[in-house]
Amino acid sequence: MKRALVCGAGGFIGGHLVKKLKREGYWVRGVDIKEHEFAETQADEFRLLDLREPHNCWEALNLGNGETFDEVYQLAADMGGMGFIHTAECDIMRNSALINNHMIDAAAKIGVGRYFFSSSVCVYRDMEPGEPALDEDDAYPALPDNEYGWEKLYAERMALAYARHYPIEVRIARFQNCYGPEGTWRGGREKAPAAICRKVAMAEDGGTIPVWGDGTAIRAYTYVDDLVEGVYLLMQSDLQGPTIIGGDEYVTVDELVGTVIAASGKEIKTEHVEGPVGVQARNFDKSKIKSLGWEAETSLREGIARTYQWIEEQVRQTQGEEGRRSSPFGRM
Ligand code: NAD
Repeated sequence: MKRALVCGAGGFIGGHLVKKLKREGYWVRGVDIKEHEFAETQADEFRLLDLREPHNCWEALNLGNGETFDEVYQLAADMGGMGFIHTAECDIMRNSALINNHMIDAAAKIGVGRYFFSSSVCVYRDMEPGEPALDEDDAYPALPDNEYGWEKLYAERMALAYARHYPIEVRIARFQNCYGPEGTWRGGREKAPAAICRKVAMAEDGGTIPVWGDGTAIRAYTYVDDLVEGVYLLMQSDLQGPTIIGGDEYVTVDELVGTVIAASGKEIKTEHVEGPVGVQARNFDKSKIKSLGWEAETSLREGIARTYQWIEEQVRQTQGEEGRRSSPFGRM
Protein backbone atom coordinates (compact mmCIF):
# COMPACT_ATOMS: atom_id res chain seq x y z
CA MET A 1 0.00 0.00 0.00
CA LYS A 2 1.42 3.41 -0.99
CA ARG A 3 1.76 5.96 1.78
CA ALA A 4 1.07 9.66 1.20
CA LEU A 5 1.51 12.77 3.33
CA VAL A 6 -0.90 15.63 2.60
CA CYS A 7 0.30 19.00 3.98
CA GLY A 8 -2.62 21.41 4.29
CA ALA A 9 -5.09 18.54 4.82
CA GLY A 10 -7.20 20.81 7.05
CA GLY A 11 -7.82 23.10 4.08
CA PHE A 12 -10.17 23.12 1.10
CA ILE A 13 -8.19 21.36 -1.66
CA GLY A 14 -6.10 19.31 0.80
CA GLY A 15 -9.30 17.91 2.36
CA HIS A 16 -10.62 16.85 -1.05
CA LEU A 17 -7.22 15.42 -2.03
CA VAL A 18 -7.17 13.21 1.07
CA LYS A 19 -10.54 11.77 -0.01
CA LYS A 20 -9.20 11.13 -3.54
CA LEU A 21 -6.07 9.36 -2.23
CA LYS A 22 -8.21 7.20 0.09
CA ARG A 23 -10.37 6.21 -2.90
CA GLU A 24 -7.14 5.24 -4.71
CA GLY A 25 -6.19 2.93 -1.81
CA TYR A 26 -3.44 4.97 -0.12
CA TRP A 27 -2.58 5.09 3.58
CA VAL A 28 -2.74 8.85 4.26
CA ARG A 29 -1.36 11.10 6.97
CA GLY A 30 -2.77 14.63 6.95
CA VAL A 31 -1.03 17.58 8.61
CA ASP A 32 -2.20 21.12 9.13
CA ILE A 33 -1.95 23.93 11.66
CA LYS A 34 -5.72 23.58 12.21
CA GLU A 35 -8.46 20.94 11.96
CA HIS A 36 -10.69 20.94 8.87
CA GLU A 37 -13.52 23.42 9.56
CA PHE A 38 -16.23 21.75 7.49
CA ALA A 39 -15.61 18.01 7.30
CA GLU A 40 -14.32 15.07 9.32
CA THR A 41 -10.89 14.21 7.97
CA GLN A 42 -10.75 10.99 5.94
CA ALA A 43 -7.00 10.65 6.62
CA ASP A 44 -5.85 7.54 8.47
CA GLU A 45 -3.92 9.84 10.77
CA PHE A 46 -4.13 13.61 11.24
CA ARG A 47 -1.48 15.70 13.01
CA LEU A 48 -1.64 19.32 14.07
CA LEU A 49 1.76 20.77 13.17
CA ASP A 50 3.06 24.22 12.27
CA LEU A 51 5.08 23.50 9.13
CA ARG A 52 6.95 26.81 9.33
CA GLU A 53 9.15 25.02 11.88
CA PRO A 54 11.77 22.68 10.35
CA HIS A 55 11.49 20.11 13.18
CA ASN A 56 7.72 19.84 12.51
CA CYS A 57 8.41 19.09 8.83
CA TRP A 58 10.75 16.27 9.89
CA GLU A 59 8.14 15.00 12.34
CA ALA A 60 5.42 15.06 9.67
CA LEU A 61 7.63 13.05 7.30
CA ASN A 62 8.81 10.47 9.82
CA LEU A 63 6.98 7.13 9.77
CA GLY A 64 9.33 5.52 12.31
CA ASN A 65 11.91 2.74 11.78
CA GLY A 66 13.77 5.01 9.36
CA GLU A 67 10.83 4.98 6.92
CA THR A 68 9.14 7.87 5.14
CA PHE A 69 6.42 8.50 2.56
CA ASP A 70 6.27 7.39 -1.07
CA GLU A 71 4.50 10.64 -1.95
CA VAL A 72 4.22 14.08 -0.32
CA TYR A 73 1.58 16.58 -1.45
CA GLN A 74 2.53 20.09 -0.26
CA LEU A 75 -0.59 22.30 -0.25
CA ALA A 76 -0.09 24.13 3.05
CA ALA A 77 0.03 27.89 2.53
CA ASP A 78 -1.06 31.14 4.11
CA MET A 79 -3.58 32.17 1.50
CA GLY A 80 -6.96 33.59 0.63
CA GLY A 81 -8.88 35.50 -2.02
CA MET A 82 -7.87 38.83 -3.60
CA GLY A 83 -8.83 40.87 -0.51
CA PHE A 84 -6.49 38.79 1.68
CA ILE A 85 -3.71 38.60 -0.94
CA HIS A 86 -3.55 42.39 -1.11
CA THR A 87 -3.67 43.08 2.64
CA ALA A 88 -1.57 40.24 4.09
CA GLU A 89 1.43 40.35 1.74
CA CYS A 90 4.07 40.05 4.47
CA ASP A 91 2.38 37.07 6.17
CA ILE A 92 1.84 35.31 2.85
CA MET A 93 5.46 35.71 1.74
CA ARG A 94 7.00 34.87 5.10
CA ASN A 95 4.77 31.99 6.20
CA SER A 96 4.45 30.23 2.87
CA ALA A 97 8.16 30.60 2.04
CA LEU A 98 9.09 29.11 5.44
CA ILE A 99 6.75 26.14 4.91
CA ASN A 100 8.00 25.52 1.37
CA ASN A 101 11.70 25.91 2.21
CA HIS A 102 11.64 23.58 5.17
CA MET A 103 9.33 20.98 3.67
CA ILE A 104 11.23 20.39 0.41
CA ASP A 105 14.54 20.38 2.31
CA ALA A 106 13.32 17.77 4.81
CA ALA A 107 11.54 15.68 2.15
CA ALA A 108 14.64 15.52 -0.08
CA LYS A 109 16.97 14.69 2.80
CA ILE A 110 14.75 12.07 4.44
CA GLY A 111 14.34 10.22 1.12
CA VAL A 112 10.76 10.88 -0.09
CA GLY A 113 10.16 9.39 -3.56
CA ARG A 114 7.82 11.97 -5.10
CA TYR A 115 6.96 15.50 -4.05
CA PHE A 116 4.02 17.56 -5.29
CA PHE A 117 3.91 21.35 -4.94
CA SER A 118 0.72 23.38 -5.43
CA SER A 119 1.59 26.55 -7.32
CA SER A 120 -0.82 28.99 -8.91
CA VAL A 121 -1.55 30.81 -12.18
CA CYS A 122 -0.90 33.92 -10.05
CA VAL A 123 2.72 33.43 -11.21
CA TYR A 124 1.68 34.89 -14.61
CA ARG A 125 1.53 38.53 -15.62
CA ASP A 126 -1.80 40.25 -16.28
CA MET A 127 -3.28 39.76 -19.77
CA GLU A 128 -5.46 41.70 -22.22
CA PRO A 129 -8.88 40.23 -23.15
CA GLY A 130 -8.52 38.20 -26.37
CA GLU A 131 -4.74 37.68 -26.01
CA PRO A 132 -3.43 34.31 -27.27
CA ALA A 133 -3.09 31.63 -24.56
CA LEU A 134 0.02 31.53 -22.38
CA ASP A 135 1.67 28.18 -21.68
CA GLU A 136 3.94 26.97 -18.88
CA ASP A 137 7.11 28.58 -20.32
CA ASP A 138 5.41 31.97 -20.65
CA ALA A 139 5.65 32.55 -16.89
CA TYR A 140 9.06 34.05 -17.80
CA PRO A 141 10.10 36.85 -18.03
CA ALA A 142 8.20 36.95 -14.75
CA LEU A 143 5.84 39.72 -13.74
CA PRO A 144 3.26 38.33 -11.29
CA ASP A 145 0.49 40.74 -10.31
CA ASN A 146 0.94 40.14 -6.55
CA GLU A 147 3.43 38.95 -3.91
CA TYR A 148 1.57 35.64 -3.49
CA GLY A 149 2.53 34.87 -7.12
CA TRP A 150 6.19 35.81 -6.54
CA GLU A 151 6.37 33.48 -3.53
CA LYS A 152 4.88 30.64 -5.60
CA LEU A 153 7.45 31.22 -8.34
CA TYR A 154 10.28 31.13 -5.81
CA ALA A 155 8.90 27.95 -4.19
CA GLU A 156 8.60 26.27 -7.63
CA ARG A 157 12.26 27.05 -8.31
CA MET A 158 13.28 25.87 -4.85
CA ALA A 159 11.56 22.48 -5.35
CA LEU A 160 13.05 22.10 -8.85
CA ALA A 161 16.54 22.89 -7.51
CA TYR A 162 16.21 20.09 -4.94
CA ALA A 163 15.07 17.73 -7.71
CA ARG A 164 18.32 18.48 -9.54
CA HIS A 165 20.49 17.69 -6.52
CA TYR A 166 18.65 14.90 -4.66
CA PRO A 167 16.99 11.66 -5.80
CA ILE A 168 13.46 13.12 -5.42
CA GLU A 169 10.92 13.44 -8.25
CA VAL A 170 9.11 16.81 -8.17
CA ARG A 171 5.74 17.55 -9.78
CA ILE A 172 4.30 21.07 -9.79
CA ALA A 173 0.78 22.18 -10.70
CA ARG A 174 -0.23 25.77 -11.30
CA PHE A 175 -3.86 25.78 -10.14
CA GLN A 176 -6.40 28.05 -11.79
CA ASN A 177 -9.18 29.38 -9.47
CA CYS A 178 -10.48 26.32 -7.66
CA TYR A 179 -13.98 26.28 -6.15
CA GLY A 180 -16.43 23.80 -4.64
CA PRO A 181 -18.04 22.71 -1.37
CA GLU A 182 -16.11 22.52 1.94
CA GLY A 183 -14.00 25.61 1.26
CA THR A 184 -13.73 28.91 3.14
CA TRP A 185 -16.89 30.92 2.45
CA ARG A 186 -16.65 33.82 4.92
CA GLY A 187 -14.18 35.60 7.21
CA GLY A 188 -12.03 37.44 4.62
CA ARG A 189 -10.03 34.55 3.10
CA GLU A 190 -12.81 33.28 0.82
CA LYS A 191 -12.34 33.47 -2.94
CA ALA A 192 -14.71 35.11 -5.42
CA PRO A 193 -17.03 32.14 -6.22
CA ALA A 194 -17.59 31.40 -2.51
CA ALA A 195 -18.02 35.09 -1.62
CA ILE A 196 -20.61 35.57 -4.38
CA CYS A 197 -22.48 32.41 -3.33
CA ARG A 198 -22.57 33.70 0.26
CA LYS A 199 -23.82 37.16 -0.73
CA VAL A 200 -26.57 35.67 -2.91
CA ALA A 201 -27.55 33.11 -0.26
CA MET A 202 -27.83 35.87 2.37
CA ALA A 203 -29.77 38.29 0.12
CA GLU A 204 -33.55 38.56 0.14
CA ASP A 205 -35.31 37.54 -3.06
CA GLY A 206 -35.50 40.81 -5.07
CA GLY A 207 -32.50 42.26 -3.20
CA THR A 208 -29.15 43.69 -4.38
CA ILE A 209 -25.62 42.42 -3.78
CA PRO A 210 -22.34 44.35 -4.07
CA VAL A 211 -19.78 43.01 -6.59
CA TRP A 212 -16.13 44.15 -6.47
CA GLY A 213 -14.88 45.90 -9.62
CA ASP A 214 -16.72 46.63 -12.86
CA GLY A 215 -17.60 42.97 -13.54
CA THR A 216 -15.55 42.67 -16.76
CA ALA A 217 -12.49 40.74 -15.44
CA ILE A 218 -12.17 37.36 -17.18
CA ARG A 219 -11.34 34.05 -15.45
CA ALA A 220 -11.87 30.31 -15.75
CA TYR A 221 -12.82 28.36 -12.61
CA THR A 222 -11.94 24.77 -11.77
CA TYR A 223 -14.25 22.49 -9.82
CA VAL A 224 -12.37 20.87 -6.95
CA ASP A 225 -13.06 17.24 -7.98
CA ASP A 226 -11.58 17.92 -11.42
CA LEU A 227 -8.59 19.67 -9.85
CA VAL A 228 -7.67 16.82 -7.48
CA GLU A 229 -8.06 14.34 -10.34
CA GLY A 230 -5.49 16.43 -12.26
CA VAL A 231 -3.15 16.52 -9.25
CA TYR A 232 -3.30 12.76 -8.95
CA LEU A 233 -2.70 12.13 -12.68
CA LEU A 234 0.18 14.60 -12.70
CA MET A 235 1.81 12.99 -9.67
CA GLN A 236 1.70 9.54 -11.31
CA SER A 237 3.05 10.90 -14.62
CA ASP A 238 6.50 11.64 -16.01
CA LEU A 239 5.63 15.26 -16.80
CA GLN A 240 8.52 17.49 -15.76
CA GLY A 241 8.33 21.16 -14.78
CA PRO A 242 5.25 23.17 -13.79
CA THR A 243 1.89 22.16 -15.33
CA ILE A 244 -1.24 24.34 -15.50
CA ILE A 245 -4.44 22.68 -14.23
CA GLY A 246 -7.66 24.56 -14.89
CA GLY A 247 -10.97 24.73 -16.69
CA ASP A 248 -11.52 26.15 -20.18
CA GLU A 249 -14.81 27.99 -19.63
CA TYR A 250 -13.70 31.63 -19.49
CA VAL A 251 -16.34 33.99 -18.10
CA THR A 252 -16.52 37.58 -16.86
CA VAL A 253 -17.17 38.27 -13.18
CA ASP A 254 -20.68 39.41 -14.18
CA GLU A 255 -21.26 36.05 -15.91
CA LEU A 256 -20.03 34.21 -12.82
CA VAL A 257 -22.44 36.24 -10.68
CA GLY A 258 -25.26 35.47 -13.15
CA THR A 259 -24.50 31.73 -12.85
CA VAL A 260 -24.71 31.93 -9.05
CA ILE A 261 -27.97 33.90 -9.18
CA ALA A 262 -29.46 31.33 -11.58
CA ALA A 263 -28.45 28.52 -9.20
CA SER A 264 -30.21 30.31 -6.32
CA GLY A 265 -33.52 30.66 -8.16
CA LYS A 266 -33.81 34.22 -6.76
CA GLU A 267 -34.19 37.58 -8.48
CA ILE A 268 -31.06 39.50 -7.45
CA LYS A 269 -29.65 42.79 -8.73
CA THR A 270 -25.96 43.71 -8.57
CA GLU A 271 -24.14 46.91 -7.69
CA HIS A 272 -20.49 47.28 -8.72
CA VAL A 273 -18.35 48.68 -5.91
CA GLU A 274 -14.64 49.42 -5.41
CA GLY A 275 -12.65 46.37 -4.36
CA PRO A 276 -9.50 44.35 -5.13
CA VAL A 277 -10.14 42.43 -8.35
CA GLY A 278 -6.68 41.28 -9.43
CA VAL A 279 -5.77 40.71 -13.06
CA GLN A 280 -8.05 41.76 -15.94
CA ALA A 281 -7.87 38.68 -18.13
CA ARG A 282 -6.69 35.07 -18.29
CA ASN A 283 -6.20 32.60 -21.13
CA PHE A 284 -4.03 29.52 -20.61
CA ASP A 285 -2.97 26.64 -22.81
CA LYS A 286 -3.83 23.36 -21.00
CA SER A 287 -2.34 20.96 -23.56
CA LYS A 288 0.31 19.73 -21.11
CA ILE A 289 -2.13 18.38 -18.50
CA LYS A 290 -4.50 17.27 -21.30
CA SER A 291 -1.68 15.08 -22.70
CA LEU A 292 -2.46 12.82 -19.70
CA GLY A 293 -6.10 12.49 -20.79
CA TRP A 294 -7.28 15.03 -18.21
CA GLU A 295 -10.29 17.27 -18.89
CA ALA A 296 -12.25 19.61 -16.63
CA GLU A 297 -15.45 17.57 -16.68
CA THR A 298 -17.65 19.73 -14.48
CA SER A 299 -19.33 22.68 -16.21
CA LEU A 300 -19.40 26.01 -14.37
CA ARG A 301 -23.20 25.76 -14.11
CA GLU A 302 -23.04 22.31 -12.52
CA GLY A 303 -20.12 23.13 -10.20
CA ILE A 304 -21.66 26.41 -9.05
CA ALA A 305 -25.01 24.69 -8.43
CA ARG A 306 -23.27 22.21 -6.04
CA THR A 307 -21.19 24.93 -4.39
CA TYR A 308 -24.18 27.26 -3.97
CA GLN A 309 -26.24 24.50 -2.38
CA TRP A 310 -23.48 23.79 0.16
CA ILE A 311 -22.91 27.48 1.01
CA GLU A 312 -26.64 28.15 1.27
CA GLU A 313 -26.80 25.32 3.82
CA GLN A 314 -23.87 26.85 5.79
CA VAL A 315 -25.60 30.24 5.78
CA ARG A 316 -28.87 28.68 6.94
CA GLN A 317 -27.14 26.81 9.79
CA THR A 318 -25.17 29.90 10.86
CA GLN A 319 -28.26 32.12 10.82
CA GLY A 320 -30.10 29.44 12.80
CA GLU A 321 -27.34 29.37 15.43
CA GLU A 322 -27.21 33.17 15.63
CA GLY A 323 -31.00 33.28 15.94
CA ARG A 324 -30.90 30.77 18.80
CA ARG A 325 -28.15 32.75 20.57
CA SER A 326 -30.14 36.00 20.39
CA SER A 327 -33.45 34.35 21.39
CA PRO A 328 -34.77 35.50 24.82
CA PHE A 329 -35.14 31.78 25.63
CA GLY A 330 -31.42 31.12 24.93
CA ARG A 331 -30.54 27.92 23.10
CA MET A 332 -33.62 26.11 21.85
P1 NAD B 1 -6.68 26.59 2.20
O1 NAD B 1 -6.33 27.87 2.88
O2 NAD B 1 -8.05 26.06 2.37
O3 NAD B 1 -5.63 25.47 2.58
C1 NAD B 1 -4.30 25.74 2.99
C2 NAD B 1 -4.09 25.04 4.32
O4 NAD B 1 -2.74 25.29 4.74
C3 NAD B 1 -5.01 25.57 5.43
O5 NAD B 1 -5.79 24.54 6.00
C4 NAD B 1 -4.04 26.15 6.45
O6 NAD B 1 -4.45 25.99 7.80
C5 NAD B 1 -2.77 25.37 6.14
N1 NAD B 1 -1.60 26.04 6.71
C6 NAD B 1 -1.35 27.39 6.68
N2 NAD B 1 -0.24 27.64 7.39
C7 NAD B 1 0.20 26.45 7.87
C8 NAD B 1 1.30 26.08 8.69
N3 NAD B 1 2.16 27.00 9.14
N4 NAD B 1 1.47 24.78 9.00
C9 NAD B 1 0.58 23.84 8.55
N5 NAD B 1 -0.48 24.13 7.77
C10 NAD B 1 -0.67 25.43 7.44
O7 NAD B 1 -6.35 26.82 0.65
P2 NAD B 1 -6.67 25.91 -0.61
O8 NAD B 1 -7.58 26.69 -1.49
O9 NAD B 1 -7.02 24.54 -0.19
O10 NAD B 1 -5.25 25.91 -1.33
C11 NAD B 1 -4.34 24.82 -1.22
C12 NAD B 1 -3.08 25.16 -2.01
O11 NAD B 1 -3.41 25.40 -3.38
C13 NAD B 1 -2.36 26.40 -1.51
O12 NAD B 1 -0.97 26.20 -1.62
C14 NAD B 1 -2.80 27.47 -2.48
O13 NAD B 1 -1.88 28.51 -2.58
C15 NAD B 1 -2.90 26.67 -3.77
N6 NAD B 1 -3.82 27.29 -4.74
C16 NAD B 1 -5.16 27.36 -4.49
C17 NAD B 1 -5.99 27.95 -5.42
C18 NAD B 1 -7.48 28.04 -5.20
O14 NAD B 1 -8.19 28.54 -6.09
N7 NAD B 1 -8.02 27.58 -4.08
C19 NAD B 1 -5.47 28.50 -6.61
C20 NAD B 1 -4.10 28.42 -6.82
C21 NAD B 1 -3.28 27.80 -5.90
